[in-house]
Amino acid sequence: MADLYLKFVNTPAGKTAARSVGLPTPVTLKRQRRPDQPFIEGNILIGAANGGKAVVELGAILASGAATIFHANGSARLTDSANVGNRAKPVELDQESPDRYTALVFDATGIEDTLQLRGLYDFFHPTIRKLTTNARVLIVGLDPHTCKTPAKAAAQQALEGFTRSAGKEIGQKGATANLIRIASGAEKNLESTVRFFLSPRSAYVSGQCVRIGRGNRTARPDNQATPLKQKTALVTGGSRGIGAAIARTLSRDGATVIVLDTFSTETALKQVADDITGHALTCDITAEDAPDQIVDFVKRHSGSLDIVVHNAGITRDKTLGNMPEHFWDLAIAVNLTAEELINDALLEADLFQQNGRIVCVSSISGIAGNFGQTNYATSKSGVIGYVEAMAKRLKNGMTVNAVAPGFIETRMTAAMPLTIREAGRRMNSLAQGGQPIDVAETIAWFCNPLSTAVNGNIVRVCGQSLIGR
Ligand code: NAD
Repeated sequence: MADLYLKFVNTPAGKTAARSVGLPTPVTLKRQRRPDQPFIEGNILIGAANGGKAVVELGAILASGAATIFHANGSARLTDSANVGNRAKPVELDQESPDRYTALVFDATGIEDTLQLRGLYDFFHPTIRKLTTNARVLIVGLDPHTCKTPAKAAAQQALEGFTRSAGKEIGQKGATANLIRIASGAEKNLESTVRFFLSPRSAYVSGQCVRIGRGNRTARPDNQATPLKQKTALVTGGSRGIGAAIARTLSRDGATVIVLDTFSTETALKQVADDITGHALTCDITAEDAPDQIVDFVKRHSGSLDIVVHNAGITRDKTLGNMPEHFWDLAIAVNLTAEELINDALLEADLFQQNGRIVCVSSISGIAGNFGQTNYATSKSGVIGYVEAMAKRLKNGMTVNAVAPGFIETRMTAAMPLTIREAGRRMNSLAQGGQPIDVAETIAWFCNPLSTAVNGNIVRVCGQSLIGR
């Protein structure tokens, strides 16, 4: 499943050869090396449009990392440094500064109308070329649906186009750009999300808009390196690929993990369970008694559950006219119906602890559609509808979110024909496929106890694929 081209273009000879014939030269993405690694290092520049409501909170979050923090001055449209805390050093934007930045963070919550969008230009125009490889652009705005005037809603919506275009411009450096939209008063809930987007954990997440609501106040984990200590998680399809990476990542973060997969994967499943001192459950999630089997297993092994990740999935590709009915039925049953029935049973049996987490795995095919995948795209689109509707119903601090992976290097994508596989890998801002760990890290952020206000989001893990919106 290795991307040999990525390795080749990261040798001096390979880089020269690829450039000379106009081929993409993707950067090797930096990923989290150790759980206790600081979420960001180097120099960060923070700026805020006048009236920004999140800048104080952002300053405090950034100060908890290992970076040197600078604050942008020198524009009448940006707030001055006084607000951002003692550790931020002022930088005059209109003067040449030698610094290079690992992150540019901008609080756009103060932007009230479209004229004030000029603050974006003032902040990013002189600084965007100073980004290092693997750098981050992070913008915090307001949810346009909550804005009282059309002018404000337009200006806040405009941040999406800006973020996505910036992501496309900086992707060749392995850098990402993302937008966090907060409800009014939700700036206190930013921490886990800001840390995620600035860290190497979000290496393959770019061009995303995430909503943060008011949420419940939750206790801080004692140790940021093991935020899921004393939590129990169930991961379906956990014997290999993305599912095994999710299980290992949740275990790394302190959870006890039950991995579930079909009988045919039993040896690999037990191996994953043994590696992480978890439990293995062999079960076909489409079996009529699967929800009961899962409820019984959870009752016997842990008594309750904090996290369920519905990762098990299949493709059965055929154009619609050529598709046998069992291809249709199986894709819908595994990818969509099973997770609804399992959640119903877990909720009915009252097995979720307070602040529980449900995470579903959709796909960019469910957003954009894909040739030969009417069944798969139907199921993965249904997952999105399910998550959005469930998010409004859950109580007790529970959340439900979904990841929508793009091209991730697994057995599923290794089975694609070569030309389609190569196109899938390269057609994104980072010009490479993602790794299972990229999906797993995004799920770990949803599951963090401090992510209680992250609810009903669909986050693509696709390197900002050109496919879909
Ligand atoms: P994979 O085929 O390597 O793993 C899927 C796992 O689900 C397997 O272990 C399989 O045995 C299990 N599974 C299938 N049917 C099951 C059933 N009835 N009961 C229990 N387990 C079952 O695939 P992957 O690439 O790791 O994909 C994981 C998830 O990510 C899937 O939902 C997939 O649709 C989604 N996804 C993957 C990609 C990608 O590029 N790999 C892209 C978008 C979405």
